[in-house]
Amino acid sequence: MDDCIFCQIVDGDIPARVVYEDEDVLAFLDANPIAPGHTLVIPKDHYETLDEVPPEPGEMMFAAIHYLTPIVEDAVDADGSNIGFNNGAAAGQEVPHVHGHIVPRFEDDGGSPIHAVAGSPPDLADAELDDLAADIADAAGDHTPS
Ligand code: AMP
Ligand code: ZN
Repeated sequence: MDDCIFCQIVDGDIPARVVYEDEDVLAFLDANPIAPGHTLVIPKDHYETLDEVPPEPGEMMFAAIHYLTPIVEDAVDADGSNIGFNNGAAAGQEVPHVHGHIVPRFEDDGGSPIHAVAGSPPDLADAELDDLAADIADAAGDHTPS
């Protein structure tokens, strides 16, 4: 993807503050950090949203997030972190190359929990929640990551 800014970072065509790299994954500091240590973790191959990512690069990306999160937290002496994906334009994704955000958090930093991302919370009846859970469980089936 020639016009993708994150593919250009992977290819070394534009600079980034790379903090981690393996065969499948690259991680670098966000250029406009919302907290010190704000890090982006991407698959090296171009996929726009999570549903497009095949299992193996997806697993590698989540493994890198799992590995890097405590390292990033320690580097900035954080008290915690939010891990999130803006998955799709409706969710606020601006760069159309899937990426996980590691956002270090600090006691009394004035920020919000991840619950703040959505609009008005829905008022769902118990029966609706039961149906929804059953639908999702049916669709998810039995899946053990490889
Ligand atoms: P999102 O809204 O999830 O697509 O967020 C995209 C993120 O990419 C933002 O936090 C930007 O600050 C960050 N970003 C955009 N361009 C660059 C770049 N060249 N290097 C590092 N981070 C970038
Ligand atoms: Zn890309």
